[in-house]
Amino acid sequence: MGGTIGVDSTLGEGSRFWIALPQALGPDLSGGRGLRGAALAEPAGRAGEAPFHVLCIEDNPANLKLVEKVLELRRRTRLLAAPTPELGLALAQAHRPDLILLDINLPGMSGYEVRKRLRADPRLAAVPVVAITASAMPADVRRVRAAGFDGYLAKPLDIARFLDLLDWHLSAGTV
Ligand code: MN
Repeated sequence: MGGTIGVDSTLGEGSRFWIALPQALGPDLSGGRGLRGAALAEPAGRAGEAPFHVLCIEDNPANLKLVEKVLELRRRTRLLAAPTPELGLALAQAHRPDLILLDINLPGMSGYEVRKRLRADPRLAAVPVVAITASAMPADVRRVRAAGFDGYLAKPLDIARFLDLLDWHLSAGTV
């Protein structure tokens, strides 16, 4: 178990980070968790729409794989995956993503600290950040809101709710 992370660098072109995960960790998207057909269907897109980059900072490989699978349902999205806060901050600075999904419970640095650092960077302060929380008790939700997150997703991820949130952010950038 466990994935492989790497970085390819090309002189003058910057770096490309990549992550490989074992196939066995792939989630089952065939249904059975109350997934609604309406949520799965991709809203009508517009020709020539720019790619929508989603940075997911999440140390749980299975959850990261699930996010990857869900993003595959929206062709405009491009996933940037970071299993550590440090890589997440580096990818955010290098790519200025359109949306960040940020796990609260990360190794070495909490999601709250990562949120603070993102906000402190003038280029990244306006990028929407959605918390991924292990607990969605009212006190946790209040803390997430108070920390300046633009929403939250509780674990285990509800795919329909995730797609709703994703579609909202996808359309918010085009109106
Ligand atoms: Mn975690």
